[in-house]
Amino acid sequence: VPVNRQKLKIGLIPADGIGQEVIPAARAAIEALGSEIPKPEFVDLAAGFELFSASGEALPEETVQALKDCDCALFGAVSSPVNKVAGYSSPIVALRKRLDLYANVRPVISVAANPEDKPDIDLVVVRENTECLYVKQETMSIGEHGKEARATRLITERASHRIGKMAFEIALGRPRKQVTVIHKSNVLSVTDGLFRDTVRAVPRVVGDGRYDSVKIEEQIVDSAVYRLFREPQIYDVMVAPNLYGDIISDAAAALVGSLGLVPSVNAGDNFVMGEPVHGSAPDIAGRGIANPLASIRSAALMLRHLGYAAAADKMDKAVDQVIREGQVLTPDLGGKSKTTEVLDAVLKRL
Ligand code: ATP
Ligand code: MG
Repeated sequence: VPVNRQKLKIGLIPADGIGQEVIPAARAAIEALGSEIPKPEFVDLAAGFELFSASGEALPEETVQALKDCDCALFGAVSSPVNKVAGYSSPIVALRKRLDLYANVRPVISVAANPEDKPDIDLVVVRENTECLYVKQETMSIGEHGKEARATRLITERASHRIGKMAFEIALGRPRKQVTVIHKSNVLSVTDGLFRDTVRAVPRVVGDGRYDSVKIEEQIVDSAVYRLFREPQIYDVMVAPNLYGDIISDAAAALVGSLGLVPSVNAGDNFVMGEPVHGSAPDIAGRGIANPLASIRSAALMLRHLGYAAAADKMDKAVDQVIREGQVLTPDLGGKSKTTEVLDAVLKRL
């Protein structure tokens, strides 16, 4: 939905490790855009494990409140402590809850050797982000033969409808306009059956023929993964409950190479937050060699989500060019360049 704004207020939360190096790069790329977007205004915000270690707080309330006043945000990465630390819980998980960012959207695209060619792999995984097994209701009891562990899996019509609608909206903006519902309703007919049927019903429930041009298909999750590896080009938009979506989005990312390239957004009805898929990469943090392209692509995806498709296309094209030319790349892609040099290459093309 194109939106008329005088200004675009963007929260920046670099958080930990290489987040501090790649989020400023994404900011610079946004600043290099011209009239495609309203004048950006950036708000620097704190969160993360390093902040927790220093202050006892991983996600200050001021950060959450300030975000509510922004149009969108970019999040870097949080370190996950190896052992459980008392009082610490992940700020990104908390942010998704506080801002009701119920969808995790992850495009996976291969860069074609020739700019005129269509990419081989060009799909988007739309993962439900609030329920399924992630409601974390687990119990342990002692049965006749020893310990018995159980987990509750929650699927609601409301969450399935809104994630389905998000998938249809995303499909509308893509050339192939195809949604594939991923499920396992041959085994879990109640939970996955509800998910599948609710997503399938979206066009009818929304009405007014809005999604008439979108083709809907479905696939059992195991065969979906098989086909994802054998013939990834068959997919356009894949929509899945939380756990299948988690697995599929990592598997799909592996098809196109470095973690340093894969973007995502966390999206709700009123807010969108870009976030590179990689973590804080403590092994390379502070050395100036982190790949900024995943963050720049996340910024593009965030803008696309807000309706600024021309700006997003421009950023994606610049990133693709840098990858295709292969002259200025960070070590994760086999190059020798620094974060700032890759950023400069993108800025030049912007
Ligand atoms: P975390 O606990 O924060 O997830 P991690 O040790 O799992 O940290 P990741 O950030 O997930 O680290 O990265 C996994 C590997 O990929 C690391 O070796 C890291 O250096 C590399 N990597 C991740 N992101 C990038 C990037 N943007 N540029 C270069 N290398 C990266
Ligand atoms: Mg990690």
